[in-house]
Amino acid sequence: MKTPTLYIVVPCYNEEECIETTSSQLSKKLSSLIKKDKISKESKVVFIDDGSKDKTWSLIKKLPDTFIGIKLSRNRGHQNALLAGLMYAKDHADICISIDADLQDDTDAIDKMITEYANGAEIVYGVRSDRKTDTWFKRTTAQSYYKFLSALGVDVVYNSADYRCMSKRTLEELSKYPETNLFLRGIAPTLGFKTATVEYSRHERIAGESKYPLKKMLGLAWDGVTSFSVKPIRLILNTGILILFVSIAVILYSVIQKILGNTVSGWTFVICSIWIIGGLQLFAIGIIGEYIGKTYMETKNRPRYIIEEIHQSK
Ligand code: UDP
Ligand code: MG
Repeated sequence: MKTPTLYIVVPCYNEEECIETTSSQLSKKLSSLIKKDKISKESKVVFIDDGSKDKTWSLIKKLPDTFIGIKLSRNRGHQNALLAGLMYAKDHADICISIDADLQDDTDAIDKMITEYANGAEIVYGVRSDRKTDTWFKRTTAQSYYKFLSALGVDVVYNSADYRCMSKRTLEELSKYPETNLFLRGIAPTLGFKTATVEYSRHERIAGESKYPLKKMLGLAWDGVTSFSVKPIRLILNTGILILFVSIAVILYSVIQKILGNTVSGWTFVICSIWIIGGLQLFAIGIIGEYIGKTYMETKNRPRYIIEEIHQSK
């Protein structure tokens, strides 16, 4: 196998404090990998400026030629910036590793990712071995979120974020997903192919503050649920069915109460009506929801299958 060309994709939003350190660390990493003949000399680092309001872009433009800068016209959010970088890289590189600009993810895992790629993995996920540097709040909410997603039937790699190595092939398949509500860590597992994971420990940010305030984090989390699962809609339908069953019990109860003479006039009718109408309404909303859910999934226009290999004996 020829030595692959690696592009490291780094989305940046107001990261002026990080650019210098990050670029020098990543450039050292590239040089050492080139020296070991693990990647080709054409390998590069791509910085995507996600509409920063500080000096990020002017700093990126000053970097030497191992670096490529892509400037988005305005802030479009981490996932879109990342996608822009990946889609650029797929036309130039054989493999692409995405990493955050704050280098919280250990760059030494890059070596292991490339080894896994050489062993045949098309997607290599970086998985956090511990979350010691995260706050208690971030750790618990993130981990419960991963569990919640799995419970909803969304296939995510536990404790993996957007630190990932993807081959040209998988990026080409990813480009066929035209959806706008992006949750890349949910899409990657749906691509299939041979995958591997490498563990790394997460550090503190090298400089600056998190660009993911609670509001953006909740937005991403919500996209993760609603872009992959129609189970919340099914929950409405199931509740409707349950209430219709409960109303049978309520009807029996109210009729018995009436026979026993424990009721005022009209009570039985009102109680039965409330339960039946309530159940019917939820049931009807649930059915409409099922169709909306299906329409929603159809509008995503995702590929229905991806062919990995075609074999024909000669
Ligand atoms: N980021 C981005 N656009 C945004 C927000 C964040 O490109 O609107 C980038 C940011 O520059 C960083 C990465 O996304 O490279 C992850 O953000 P951050 O490290 O602030 O998130 P945290 O690690 O705190 O979850
Ligand atoms: Mg970070």
